This record gives sequence, C-alpha cells and structure tokens, in this order.
Amino acid sequence: MRIVDVCEVTKPISSPIRNAYIDFSKMTASLVAVVTDVERDGRRVVGYGFNSNGRYGQGGLIRERFRDRILQADPQGVLDETGDNLCPHKLWAAMMANEKPGGHGERSVAVGTLDMAIWDATAKIAGKPLFRLLAERKGRTADPRVFVYAAGGYYYPGKDDGALRAEMRGYLDRGYTVVKMKIGGAPIDEDRRRIEAVLEEIGSQAQLAVDANGRFDLETGIAYARMLRQYPLFWYEEVGDPLDYALQAALSEFYPGPMATGENLFSHQDARNLLRYGGMRPDRDWLQFDCALSYGLVEYLRTLDVLQQFGWSPSRCIPHGGHQMSLNIAAGLGLGGNESYPDLFQPYGGFPDGVRVEGGYITMPELPGIGFEGKSDLIKVMRDLAE
Ligand SMILES: [Mg+2]
Repeated sequence: MRIVDVCEVTKPISSPIRNAYIDFSKMTASLVAVVTDVERDGRRVVGYGFNSNGRYGQGGLIRERFRDRILQADPQGVLDETGDNLCPHKLWAAMMANEKPGGHGERSVAVGTLDMAIWDATAKIAGKPLFRLLAERKGRTADPRVFVYAAGGYYYPGKDDGALRAEMRGYLDRGYTVVKMKIGGAPIDEDRRRIEAVLEEIGSQAQLAVDANGRFDLETGIAYARMLRQYPLFWYEEVGDPLDYALQAALSEFYPGPMATGENLFSHQDARNLLRYGGMRPDRDWLQFDCALSYGLVEYLRTLDVLQQFGWSPSRCIPHGGHQMSLNIAAGLGLGGNESYPDLFQPYGGFPDGVRVEGGYITMPELPGIGFEGKSDLIKVMRDLAE
C-alpha cells in the first residue's frame, strides 16, 4: 500500500467578526487530502484535514515542501510494523526532514493539517473511529462522551448587549453549559458592562469564560484581573502575549480563579516552557494547545508526555479550534473536552449530523476515521478536492 497523491486547496472562511487582536474578514483555511491506493467498503481510502481557524491557509508551504516529502518517501519506510497501515510517526519524520529546530513559524500549521489527514486515513484503513484507535494504542478505555463549550461573543459592527445576550441564550438553548465571549476589544468599562449583561442572561444555567486573545500588557492584564475576579468565571483566557511566560506567572498573583492559555504555542518545547515558567496551576488552570496548529497529533502526543512529566493530567486540556480531530483526541485520550463554535467557521467546525449537545456533552458517533463522512456539508467540499 502507498500514498499516491496529496492535494491542497486554500478556501476562504471569512466573516465580519473580530476579537481583541484580529478581524476575520480575509481569513482562509487549507483543506488537504491524502489519497491512498487502499480500498475499504468498495471505496478508495482518502484521509482529509484542514487547518484550525485563526491562522491562514498553508498552500505555499504544503506545495513547496511538505507534499513532496510525503510523496518522495520510501513507501515501505512509512508503514507501521504490520506493513498493512500507515505510520503517522514515520510520515511526520519524513515531513520534517531538513527542518531546523525552534522558531516554529507557521510550518507547524502546514504539518498539523497534513498530520490530521494522515491520521484520518490511518483510522479508516484500520476500519475504526480514530478515538477508538488512539485509546487502544494507549491501552485505555475510550469515553465517547466529550464536554464541549460554546465559543462566541465576538465583536462585530452594530452588535449591542441585547444581541450578545441573544447569542448566549441561543447556546444555552442548544444544550451548552459553558459559554465564552471575547474581551479586550473595547475599553474595560464597556467590557465589564458586556460581561454583566451575559452573566445576567445565563444566570445559574451556565458558566462564562472570557478570552483576551493575547492583547494585554501586564498592567492591563492586572487591571482586568482585578475586575474579573469579582465574578465566578469559568476561566480568564490568553491574557498576554502567548510567549510571555513571566507575564502569565505574574498574573496568578492577581487572579485566583482558573486561567487558560496555549492555543498559540505550536510545539511541545513551547508547551514545556509554559509549564516551567508560566506559573500555571495544575489544580485549576486549563491548557488549550491545538494539534491542528501545532504539528499535529504526533507532536501533541509528545506534549501530553511533557504534561505527565510536570504532573499535569490530560483532563486539564481543552483544545482550541472546535474541530473533530480534537474531539477524537479528547474521547480517546481523556482530555477535559473541546472548544466548539456553534455558529462560526462552517463547514469545518462542529459535529457530525445528528450529534446534539446535551447537558454540555456530545457523544461521538461510531464512524471510521475522524468522522468527517458524518458531516454532509463538510464531506461534500472534501470529496470535491480528491474524489
Ligand atoms: Mg482563545
């Protein structure tokens, strides 16, 4: 068996929303397909992947470097020990040949996108859902129930508190028990008013998380911490620059509640530095590393090893991104849950058709691979690329 082609297309996923740092008016995403010569159930096995929202499409890097390294690798040299399936770890090593360490840039997004497609193909060839394959390989029991929270509360032109409350009410109506809103894109008094409006709307039905998207310097982060600590928030997210570990550590002196960060750390080395120097507290804080931005699941497994070395449970991880890849990792490897964007970044985000949020949890369907075939709008654009 072998990989016969790797395809990429860069697609727009633009919308008028903005957070404290960027707007999404020109946002794009890479969709990739890893085409094999294997057949299952009368159909050629094709693995699919896409990059997580918030970083742009990676067509240049994929076409200039990573696609060729996959196609030029010795086909026997990238199989697992049985010789009957792909080995994502060997394919990862092939993609990363002649890449210097550190300075991760966005090649981690290109590799993460291809890695998603490789795992999708691998689980399809094995004939089982990826979360079951991962649990088996780790010798654990999969748990198909996964906690999810609704991320939204973006700024957009003309959006007032009434619209923000209606948005949050909509998430509660759809079964979510934790909702998230953006902060830091308005003056602090305005953000306080927005937060109080949402807290009044959700009452005791749900909890609220807030996300500053790395906007604040230390002084502003502390000013917000003093304001936010009066409220029973689910978490205070990505306060300062993602690589400013000293800032993160200083904040824990001003904010006793849970904090969350990590979506813009793209390697296990950066994750290790966060745990070494960021003052994160394993009894209450949350880690949001997103494999689809950070060299994929092969690298994420290394990150989970780092967590273990530092005494962190995988259940403290709730990845950024809202994609089915992280749902599989959560169900298979015992993460604490996954982000979801009920109204955004379609058709890539969300759940297979028919999956409902109940009491803040979804149940994974038993679909081979990552489960893209169960989401009709998504699998249509995927098959347009390669089948
Ligand atoms: Mg965030």
